[in-house]
Amino acid sequence: MVKKVLKFGGTSVGTTERIQHVANIIKKEQSSGNKVIAVVSAMAGKTNELIELSTKISDNFDKRELDVLLSSGEQVTCALLSAALIRLNVKAKSWLNWQIPILTDGEHSNARIINMNIEKINNFLDDRGVAIIPGFQGISKNGDITTIGRGGSDATAVAVAKMFNADTCEIYTDVDGVYSTDPNKIPVAKKIDKISYDEMLELSSLGAKVMQSSAVQTAMMYDIPLEVRSTFSDRKGTKIFSHENIDYTKSVTGVAYSKDDAKITIIGVEDRPGVAANIFEPLSKSQINVDMVIQNISSDQKTTDITFTVKRADVLKTKQILNKNNKINYKNIIQKENVAKISIVGAGMVSTPGVTYRMFRALSDENINILAISTSEIKLSVIIDEENTLKAIKKLHTIFDLD
Ligand code: ADP
Ligand code: ASP
Ligand code: MG
Repeated sequence: MVKKVLKFGGTSVGTTERIQHVANIIKKEQSSGNKVIAVVSAMAGKTNELIELSTKISDNFDKRELDVLLSSGEQVTCALLSAALIRLNVKAKSWLNWQIPILTDGEHSNARIINMNIEKINNFLDDRGVAIIPGFQGISKNGDITTIGRGGSDATAVAVAKMFNADTCEIYTDVDGVYSTDPNKIPVAKKIDKISYDEMLELSSLGAKVMQSSAVQTAMMYDIPLEVRSTFSDRKGTKIFSHENIDYTKSVTGVAYSKDDAKITIIGVEDRPGVAANIFEPLSKSQINVDMVIQNISSDQKTTDITFTVKRADVLKTKQILNKNNKINYKNIIQKENVAKISIVGAGMVSTPGVTYRMFRALSDENINILAISTSEIKLSVIIDEENTLKAIKKLHTIFDLD
């Protein structure tokens, strides 16, 4: 007998017909003798709809109440799926976050699962029951409902797999695996049969939303193998696991993109030791994450221009902090928000020389200007004009043999 955690994303439970289809998948697993815990998302679009409702009440909606509101989407799916299973004569029961409970730490909208009670659910599984658990949420030490960040049902599934010591954790979604790039944007994208945690972590933190990055991080930390597969076909999915099992014949495994970043340039800053620290220290104290940094010496050799990127949502706050900062002198600050970050990721990059220049050459062949660059051992990211996003992904996908 195998204990499985099956996670179903928003599109997979987007209509009552789809929920009935999911109930059939679960019934099949349970009839073949497996113990099943299903983790579910809100029906597709529901969480956005609830956010939209909150903005009609206030732009500054109370954070505690926002989590109460947003967590309700998953509650609806739990009840519908559980009842659909009961109708198929499967013993099933939904457990809400506070009934389990799933304990979280950290602030509203961005909490982290730290523990959960497994006894009652394990007893139910022993009695051949199927447990349905809402993704994306928990309760804090004070008993307040919390949510764990957008796309967080993936992280719930991994946490549940860890706590319940499950044999497998399967992420059912609307594509049949992890692809070399978003298959809904680039139809020639190729499915990847297996991928390492490191590569998946880079891809998801750089924009491939097929897996949420904190879920991959937890899976990597506790060595929980994942499989991403389709709710709508029986095709084999993508296995995500540790290094040793992977063949690194390709230098680049995938191309990711995100439109979450913005570029800020401080023009005419004094060029002396300590200036960069004076600029970035207050930003980091305000939890603003600076990604790429470039410094140019200007022609007078006395001043310099410093360019860096931050999350687009942080641009206003960043400018306010810079304006208030009396430890720095500069001429002007300019910003550019319509930029995209394009990244190539591959564990094989470590051992393949020339990947960097091939990426730059490919972009220049397409007349795409690179505005900033950052690298790590297994990834290379560039900032470019947003309008060139698709062109850049297509070109990189082709030159690195991913089509
Ligand atoms: P779910 O609601 O099931 O959690 P998501 O919408 O969060 O599903 O993630 C699935 C989507 O991720 C796909 O529909 C696809 O458009 C997108 N995606 C982005 N990059 C990739 C990639 N490299 N491989 C597969 N899907 C990707
Ligand atoms: N419903 C939540 C969201 O849309 C969580 C999830 O689907 O993973 O972000
Ligand atoms: Mg998702």
